[in-house]
Amino acid sequence: SRDFRVVVLGSAGVGKSALVQRWVRGNFREAYLPTIEDTYRQVLGCSHKVGALHITDTTGGRRYRGLQRLAIARGHAFILVYSVTKKHTLEELKPLYHLIRDLKGNNPLKCPIILVGNKCDESHREVSEKEGAACASEWNCAFLETSAKMNINVQELFQMLLNHEKKPAASA
Ligand code: GDP
Ligand code: MG
Repeated sequence: SRDFRVVVLGSAGVGKSALVQRWVRGNFREAYLPTIEDTYRQVLGCSHKVGALHITDTTGGRRYRGLQRLAIARGHAFILVYSVTKKHTLEELKPLYHLIRDLKGNNPLKCPIILVGNKCDESHREVSEKEGAACASEWNCAFLETSAKMNINVQELFQMLLNHEKKPAASA
C-alpha cells in the first residue's frame, strides 16, 4: 500500500477548493474562503495498490510560493485550474506548468497533469473550450471543463487521476 498525492494549483478564486469540496464532501458553497493550504485524505478501498489519496488544495497567493514549490515536489499528479470567466487565470498557469516540468520531468506518464477550465456553468466567458483544449495539447496534458457549482465533470476529473494511478506506468 502506498500513497498518491494530487496537488491542485491555480490562481485565487478559480474554484480549486470548490472542486475538492465537491468531490470529497459532495457539496458547494457560494461564500469565498481563501485557503492557505489544506490536505484531504481519502482512503480508497477499490484498489489494493493505493494506500490513500492525498489531495493538497494550495493557495494562489504569491506569499506562499515556497509552500507551492514543496507541494509540487512531493506531488504525484497535478490539477491545474483556471476559470473560463477570467482569461488571466489561464495565463497564470503557465509558470506553474513550467515549474512542475522543471521539478518533475517531462514524462506525462510518470507525472500526469490535468488542465481544468472551471465555472463552465457561467454564461460570461473569456476562454472558449477550444482555447483550453489548445493549451492542453500544447502542454501534452489532459483537459476537462468543469463546474463545481453544477457538479459537471467533477467525478470524471478525479476518476481520470485514479485510473492513471492504477496503470503500471505510474509507478515506474
Ligand atoms: P479557490 O481560491 O481557487 O479555492 O476558489 P474557491 O473554491 O474558494 O471559489 C471561489 C469562488 O468561486 C467562490 O465564491 C465559489 O463559490 C465560486 N465557484 C467555485 N466553483 C465554481 C463553479 O464551478 N461555478 C461558479 N459559478 N462559481 C464557482
Ligand atoms: Mg481555496
